Amino acid sequence: MHHYFKHLECSNCGEIHLHTVPQNVCLSCGKPLFARYSLEQLPETWKPEHLQSRPASLWRYKELLPICDEKHIVSLGETMTPIIHTKRLGEHFGLPELWIKDESRLPTGSFKARGLAMAVSKAKELSINKLAIPSAGNAATALSVYAAAADISANIFMPKDTPTFNIETCRLAGANVTLIDGLISDAGKIVAERKADEGWFDVSTLKEPYRVEGKKTMGFELAEQFGWKLPDVIIYPTGGGTGIVGMWKGFEELETIGWIGKKRPRFISVQSAGCAPIVKAWEDGNTSAEPWQDAHTIASGLRVPQAIGDFLILKAIRESGGTAVAVTDDAIQDAMQLLPTKEGILTCPEGAATVAALEQLLSDGTITSSDQVVLFNTGGFQT
Ligand SMILES: *Cc1c(COP(=O)(O)O)cnc(C)c1O
Repeated sequence: MHHYFKHLECSNCGEIHLHTVPQNVCLSCGKPLFARYSLEQLPETWKPEHLQSRPASLWRYKELLPICDEKHIVSLGETMTPIIHTKRLGEHFGLPELWIKDESRLPTGSFKARGLAMAVSKAKELSINKLAIPSAGNAATALSVYAAAADISANIFMPKDTPTFNIETCRLAGANVTLIDGLISDAGKIVAERKADEGWFDVSTLKEPYRVEGKKTMGFELAEQFGWKLPDVIIYPTGGGTGIVGMWKGFEELETIGWIGKKRPRFISVQSAGCAPIVKAWEDGNTSAEPWQDAHTIASGLRVPQAIGDFLILKAIRESGGTAVAVTDDAIQDAMQLLPTKEGILTCPEGAATVAALEQLLSDGTITSSDQVVLFNTGGFQT
């Protein structure tokens, strides 16, 4: 199979790394690596119309994905997720162009499937057979099932108060699960300490270059579903930040190949008031974030006190003319009721946080009634 994947490039210092061997972060500066493609070699004749005959899954964008040989793809059916025009909720807010991209339809019920499908496929391509991950929950579930399908071992470290759904699903899929007394950042330290001895490859958010490639397909789908015209605003619940960073990167690639223009949606990063390091950094005008102390929130996916990609998230927000907002757990809970009541869409707390943020941003004038707004429901309702 012909592929266009050229090399890995440090997102901070620009140093080039080989993609034919396993890589984590930049060997010089320790920051995340980005996959780069020979986009100039894509045939000029490659046009959006060519996608139409392809399966409705994220693999339809294979020219812009890092898997070199399709036989390594590990797939559980990563369907294109629907983009739903939420008219009743829009009426409620006086916002006619309100849409939700519903990521809950993906395998394991969250958008984490996109990133882990890519990371596990790439691990298979590189003959890696032991993976380890610190997780707040959904990434662990997604890794466990994809690793099971690929016959690769999955070693999971997560907080002991992670939702039961995540703990149980990992165990059902045969992963080695360790529950720790601490947060995802503490779990990350354990993986870092033990990985050399255990022979594990670390698939932590943005310490592995391919999860973000899976996440960027959210941006590709969004662009395609809107006829290659991006919306005015994207509201996105932010933990480790791969979603925002991935979409940002994906839009840049689409512009390079001439499929979209210069316009970018304003990225609005939503965090929980109980763990809002990116919001704090944004409000303080900083380009990186301080670790958050005593992180707590019902939105477990947002309970990420420190993100290695902080500078990339803040850059995407800044360059897109967006902003970052915190919402309380009470507001999240209200939104978890409002959305299904108005639209019949059941959400995870993280998805509901975007609705709570919208309310805030409409009242302070950041979003106006003429904006076309897309909320990301990053996962389904789970107990
Ligand atoms: C992981 C997670 C998030 C945060 O995603 P990032 O792209 O890492 O910021 C949001 N919502 C849900 C449901 C998650 O599982």
